Amino acid sequence: MKNHMLLPLLAFLFVLNTGCNSLSEKTSSTDATPEPYAYALVLHGGAGSMNFQSVTEEQQVKYKHSLDSALQLGLDLLREGGSSLDAVETVIRCLEDNPLFNAGKGAVFTSEGKNELDASIMTGWDLNAGAVAGVTNIKNPITAARAVMEKSEHVMLAGHGAEVFSEQEGLDIVAPSYFYTQKRFESYQRSKEKEKHGTVGCVALDSKGNLCAGTSTGGMTNKKYGRIGDAPIIGAGTYANNKTCGVSATGHGEFFIRWAVAHDISALMEYRDYDVEAAAKEVVEKKLVEVGGSGGVICLDRFGRVAMITNTSGMFRAYGNSEGERLVAIFK
Ligand code: ASP
Repeated sequence: MKNHMLLPLLAFLFVLNTGCNSLSEKTSSTDATPEPYAYALVLHGGAGSMNFQSVTEEQQVKYKHSLDSALQLGLDLLREGGSSLDAVETVIRCLEDNPLFNAGKGAVFTSEGKNELDASIMTGWDLNAGAVAGVTNIKNPITAARAVMEKSEHVMLAGHGAEVFSEQEGLDIVAPSYFYTQKRFESYQRSKEKEKHGTVGCVALDSKGNLCAGTSTGGMTNKKYGRIGDAPIIGAGTYANNKTCGVSATGHGEFFIRWAVAHDISALMEYRDYDVEAAAKEVVEKKLVEVGGSGGVICLDRFGRVAMITNTSGMFRAYGNSEGERLVAIFK
């Protein structure tokens, strides 16, 4: 190339280059992804119609204390570098052991006067999942769900098969009467009333950027025996995907199954670019409301940003993250 042609070419390349630089600077500033939290955790203890009469001040103190201590347990574990899977299992076990909630001890009764429990767990990095349904003697169904995920080649085990498997895996087995609480029994007797809250769930993001979600429940008071709700159904009551978010749901399970609620929230983020709050609102406040499906969800996206959305007047919930932000709430 002749020298006299070199100068204009260099000038052209310089302009092109600065043009590219400024374009890429622009791109990165407009597409700025949020700084992720090192870890975050959100949990729920059920949603339903509640007001200051139905949940007295004394009960509010008890619930808030229980939610806060479960939250602390999970946050401590994550701060020490524990996995989101361990955090979700630990938090849900704590809530299952607490008779205030409709999961594990304190579960509601079926139309037959028994307790049948459902639970599931899912890890967002490999889309692995495990669930148990309709179990009657496993002390902590969430641990059984994890065992199904990690130690069997299946995703869901139900009833007697799930119980035998859990016993073989060395899980705590209890007499069915362990789940009995006076409060739930009275509500079953009064009922044929529908108990609308108490299911528990948790979503965690750990310091490796991994999401995990889990849900555990006794179902709905006076449900037909053998009925299985959304809590153990992957994509309905529980979902986790590192690409999008983790979700745990609570509410009228039949609607959450039919509208594939937890997966729908993730799909809106994956395919329609919604942020986690917009996706949760679209599904819970629009789609479910249009068809009369009451309930709520807790979600964390891959940055640890939270959405706690319910179309009912209350949802027991708590959230915390590595920046020390913290919330414990009951009413909407
Ligand atoms: N979703 C649960 C079920 O239908 C109940 C609840 O969350 O209150 O079994």
